[in-house]
Amino acid sequence: MLTVCCKLDVPTELRPIVDATLQAFADTCTAVREVAEETGTTARFKLHHLVYRDMRARFGLSANLTCQAIARVAAALKAKHKRSTFKPTSASYDQRVFRLFEADWTASLTILGGARRFKLLLGEYQRRQLAGMDPTAATLAKHRNGRYYLHIQVRRVVPIPKPAVGVLGVDLGIKNLASLSTGERFGGAEVTRIRDHHQAMRAALQRKGTKGAKRLLRRLSGREQRYMAWINHTISARIVRFARHHALVVSLEDLTGIRERAKVRKSQRHKHHRWAFHQLRDFLEYKAVRDGVDLVLVNPAYTSQTCHRCLCIGKRAGDLFTCSHCGYSGHSDYNGACNIGLLGACVTRPEHSLFCILAG
Ligand SMILES: [Zn+2]
Repeated sequence: MLTVCCKLDVPTELRPIVDATLQAFADTCTAVREVAEETGTTARFKLHHLVYRDMRARFGLSANLTCQAIARVAAALKAKHKRSTFKPTSASYDQRVFRLFEADWTASLTILGGARRFKLLLGEYQRRQLAGMDPTAATLAKHRNGRYYLHIQVRRVVPIPKPAVGVLGVDLGIKNLASLSTGERFGGAEVTRIRDHHQAMRAALQRKGTKGAKRLLRRLSGREQRYMAWINHTISARIVRFARHHALVVSLEDLTGIRERAKVRKSQRHKHHRWAFHQLRDFLEYKAVRDGVDLVLVNPAYTSQTCHRCLCIGKRAGDLFTCSHCGYSGHSDYNGACNIGLLGACVTRPEHSLFCILAG
């Protein structure tokens, strides 16, 4: 089990009701605890029969939240917690009183007066952890800073990977977003066209510099980010699906430290797109882990200069790679992806690795 902590957007008008719910939950817990002590009852089932009706009538919580409060006291007694009063800082929810909606990232929570939908303020990490998980338990919490949070519990199921039979080399770049050792390339013309369009708009608006221009700039940048995130999700999903289907290890360049800077500095013109480059890597990594596809990171030195056919140093001119030793010539990113695949195969040594690398 993994707990994902999410900020909850509680509108001002609902805050008193949420606070009252937390208070009622704490009061219920405290009262249940008193009964438990007076009667010497610690088992959840027995406690439930003793106090349920009375607690609901006294504190007005929904049936399920009352059950949750009783369960919490029983757990505290079992763990021999000394504390006998409960603070109004958290309430437990299960699938009858909590539901997550992935389409608009909202959560339905039952509070006093009924169920309400709340917006979750999520970062990339949290979305990734929650996507497709259909969680069934959560804790509503009010932290000391006065903000509301929802701690959502998700069950992590890591699929068992099939034994790999080959390696898929993936070269990530700024211009061609991803090139595969199968010969497939993602990004290119269409993405470049849209990016150039945005870049031109940005430049024009920056020159203008008025308040309205700045506002439009912000909106455009949001739109471009959403577009690139969508592209990156699509590409990474396709690569991981392909690798999973063919039982391939995905081989990527290890870009930690100095090499990362060196690789990205090459294209200053695309300074603005650096984050998208890293985002695609991130997406690939988490999707691979999620779907049980193995990843291997290889040393990126010479991957773009070496000829993947004969392993001699060749020449790269823009998109074209040529090797004077064996006469090979082809797309430089394809050649790079093949080298990354070959290195990955050296590290992982699956059977038939060469066949799969050269399949394209
Ligand atoms: Zn060659």
